[in-house]
This record gives sequence, C-alpha cells and structure tokens, in this order.
Amino acid sequence: MTVSGHALVTGGGSGIGAAVAKTLVDAGLRVTLLGRTLAPLQQLAAAHPGHMAAVQADVTDADAVAMAFTQARAHFGPITVLVNSAGQAGSAPFLKTDAALWQQMLAVNLTGTFHCTQAVLPDMLQAGWGRIINIASTAGLAGYAYVAAYCAAKHGVVGLTRALALELARKGITVNAVCPGYTETELLRDSIANVMAKTGRSEADARAEFAAGNPQGRIVQPEEVADTVRWLCSAGAASINGQSIAVCGGEIMN
Ligand code: NAD
Repeated sequence: MTVSGHALVTGGGSGIGAAVAKTLVDAGLRVTLLGRTLAPLQQLAAAHPGHMAAVQADVTDADAVAMAFTQARAHFGPITVLVNSAGQAGSAPFLKTDAALWQQMLAVNLTGTFHCTQAVLPDMLQAGWGRIINIASTAGLAGYAYVAAYCAAKHGVVGLTRALALELARKGITVNAVCPGYTETELLRDSIANVMAKTGRSEADARAEFAAGNPQGRIVQPEEVADTVRWLCSAGAASINGQSIAVCGGEIMN
C-alpha cells in the first residue's frame, strides 16, 4: 500500500511515534518528527535522508508548536497527515494525585493534541484532504486504577476525536483515535519500574501482570499500532471516521 504526502508525528523520537514514522516512510510519505529533544529525532531522521526531518517543540506550548509546524512545512510542504503520539502516563492513587500531576496529564495528552490539531488544520482544509490520528489508549475507553488523570485526559482525546470527526466530515478529512493496550515502549518500561519500586515485585512478575491484562497474554508491539495508523492513512479507510480503534488483543470491545 503506497500513500503520499507529508505526515507530522509528535513524540516521533521513540516508541509508538518512531514506529509510526518508519512505517509511514516505508509506505511512501515524507515524515517530520516533532519532540522536545532534537538529538534523538535528528538521529532517526538521518537514517532516512530526504524522507524524514526533525523539528523541536513541547506540545504543551502553542507558540512553539506553531513555529515547529512552519519549520516542518519548509522541509516537505503542507502537512496532510497528523499523528498525535506525544504523551506521558503518570500514575498515583487518586488522593495522591496533586494538581501538578493532573495538569501535566491534561496538558501533554489532551491540550497538546488540541494545539497540534489547530496548527495543522489550515493545510488540510486547503488540500481538501487530511488524516488526523490520535494515539489515545485503552485508558481512553475504560477506567484503570491509579491513573485517574491519564484516563481523564485520554477519554478527553476520544471526545475531541469524535467531535472533530463530525465537524470535518464533509471536508475530506477523517479524525480517528488508535487505542493501544500495554505496548512495548519506554513508557511501559517506566510503568513496570514503578510497579517494581512500589510493590517489590520482580520485573518478570510486573511484566506478566501487564501482559495478563491482554486476552492474548502478551504485550502489544509498537509496529502493530503503526500498521493501524498506516491503514487509516490509506484511501480505502476514507469511511473510517470518529472511531476509536483498540489495538489490545481484545481487552476492550466496543
Ligand atoms: P514513549 O515514551 O516512547 O513516547 C512518548 C513520546 O512523547 C516521547 O518521545 C516523549 O519524549 C514525547 N513527549 C512527551 N511529552 C512531550 C511533550 N510535552 N512535548 C513533545 N513530546 C513529548 O511512549 P509510547 O508508549 O510510544 O507513547 C506514545 C503514545 O502512546 C502516548 O500518547 C501514550 O499515552 C500512548 N500509549 C502508550 C501505551 C503503552 O503501553 N506504551 C499504551 C496506550 C497508549
């Protein structure tokens, strides 16, 4: 399947974002990676000369995002695919969730998605075509203990996805969420380390508990999430709009 155009992937330097970026380049797109730290983004981009570029921004900063999107256009032209993958998953029991953690989860996962979507939309409206793909989470579709702020933010991403999908439905633009279950990335490794620190369990035990949440009894691979994103970018996915596609071995059925 070949697709063309210019995709911008936030959080593109690692994990799911990096897997998405590589998959979209393989599919024929030019890809700009956006993240807070340029070095890892530039390293990944250098492995795909002429096909990948890197720009720096914290997605919580609207001005920095606008500037980075302008730089991205200078590399590969108007942006017609946006993949919002930048995210953080802080955890705490609810009464230990202070205002700073709450604000941080909303700012990165939800408001960051809002800023990037506002920055990209004029290009898509001008082109009469676009794909906005938000990497939400199964935590955007169901509750999980000890991650109230993250869950609230990801449910917000699903709500934003649904509202915008309707608003843009006649503009040639689709808006969808991809909702991974536990996926093999740095974010999951941090969660495993957190469980080990708080419960004294071994890494193997903590990992097994995360895998057990998936009916297939395994951790999802980032490339599986990336393949879903690639499909959503294809012409054949034009009728898929406002959906939240769970990539989690059947943990969530909606
Ligand atoms: P990851 O930590 O490898 O990737 C997240 C990326 O976002 C990192 O590159 C990080 O630097 C970047 N980022 C964080 N805050 C940022 C900010 N303010 N501005 C710009 N970039 C920022 O982890 P991942 O698992 O690849 O996460 C990607 C997305 O997938 C996240 O939105 C996460 O919530 C979601 N997700 C992950 C899992 C999982 O189990 N790994 C499950 C469901 C959903």
